Amino acid sequence: MKKLFKLTSLFMAVILFMQAIPNFAEAATRIYWNKKMIDGSSILYWVDSNVSYTTAIRNAEKEIEIPAAGYSNPMKMSKTTTKSSSKIEFWQINNPNITAIARSYSYRPNSSTAMVVTDKDKYNWYWCKIELNQARMKDYTPSKRATIIVHEMLHAFGGKDTYSSDQKSSIMYGTSDGTATGVTKDANNFLNDKY
Ligand SMILES: [Zn+2]
Repeated sequence: MKKLFKLTSLFMAVILFMQAIPNFAEAATRIYWNKKMIDGSSILYWVDSNVSYTTAIRNAEKEIEIPAAGYSNPMKMSKTTTKSSSKIEFWQINNPNITAIARSYSYRPNSSTAMVVTDKDKYNWYWCKIELNQARMKDYTPSKRATIIVHEMLHAFGGKDTYSSDQKSSIMYGTSDGTATGVTKDANNFLNDKY
């Protein structure tokens, strides 16, 4: 089912969670893609042995399943050591030359090529890869790291970045100066709509 993924090129679909950049003034925008992860409501995830942020990943999992703000949704996740059965894979890179703190890549069934993000409005995807950039992650507190991973996992489930200055409090705000500390109502709503 799941094929080996190729090394990504800049061309490939990259959703960046970037360091703070100046706001562009924009009106509120949609924080989800039209499509979603196939069979995404109950999944296994796998973490490469090289990843330093296993606690943050576990805390992010718990936050999505039972958001601290008291929302409910159908999401269920468990960690597996069997990569081939997982639907989210976590990998670590260490690249100080890019501003991305973390990136996510979505793959359609039987494809080893990451989707172009705009295709996430057209096609469901089967699994996701999340790449954590240690060169940036190391600068954040443990709780902010978990928040960053919540954001990335929400990309896997269909969340879309917003850069609108009036959505800075949304978990899907796309830069590190967002104020969310976990799943926000707008994101919990799309989880319930999709799954
Ligand atoms: Zn993002």
